[in-house]
Amino acid sequence: MKGIIQENIKKVEQVIDESCKKAGRNRGEVTLIAVSKTKPVEMLQEAYDYGCRDFGENKVQELVDKYEVMPKDIRWHMIGHLQRNKVKYIVDKVYLIHSVDSLKLAEEISKEAVKKNVIVNILIEVNVAEEESKFGVSCKETLDLVRKISILPNVCIKGLMTIAPFVENGEENRIYFSKLKELAVDIEHENVDNISMEILSMGMTGDYPIALSEGATYVRVGTGIFGSR
Ligand SMILES: *Cc1c(COP(=O)(O)O)cnc(C)c1O
Repeated sequence: MKGIIQENIKKVEQVIDESCKKAGRNRGEVTLIAVSKTKPVEMLQEAYDYGCRDFGENKVQELVDKYEVMPKDIRWHMIGHLQRNKVKYIVDKVYLIHSVDSLKLAEEISKEAVKKNVIVNILIEVNVAEEESKFGVSCKETLDLVRKISILPNVCIKGLMTIAPFVENGEENRIYFSKLKELAVDIEHENVDNISMEILSMGMTGDYPIALSEGATYVRVGTGIFGSR
């Protein structure tokens, strides 16, 4: 097995390079998040040794367990649904929480961040495709939520995140990625204090080249790096 993960990352990196070139974008604008949920730390270590410093997890306990044993220069991304009662375990460990979709959750993050004297960077999760099974706010609700969260202490909105539908052909998701980009531009024009729309977290193994052509700054790749779960 040794070597496969590094081979996979190399391939993903090549696709990112090509996608950026095609879209006329600077590779430096894009960060690859290695989505390591359910995978053992040995596999994460292999990705780390290749140079990965951004890892995505979707469960609080798993993130904390891996945080304890992995090198301290890793940037941990919380990409899964977050329950309010678990916020306290991760506010001082995560680099970015991608999955904030309610004022109540943001208030809890703010409260715990003040207690621990840290600033927590967050993204608003938008259910662009309006899938019943998915978390996230609708496009219509997003600006109002951004305004309400923007005044909370120690929490800072950096952009938007979406999880596109599971499709055979990633091209089908282009419309959702372009909608998220458009929403970010619209919100930027509102000049809300203390927030930015610099991060667009969108695109997974099946569709990240499409997301990159529509402006993604973070792509979240799991299967394409670590294999199927
Ligand atoms: C699991 C997961 C990913 C990675 O999915 P792959 O299809 O394995 O690349 C990305 N984003 C979120 C929010 C996830 O839960």
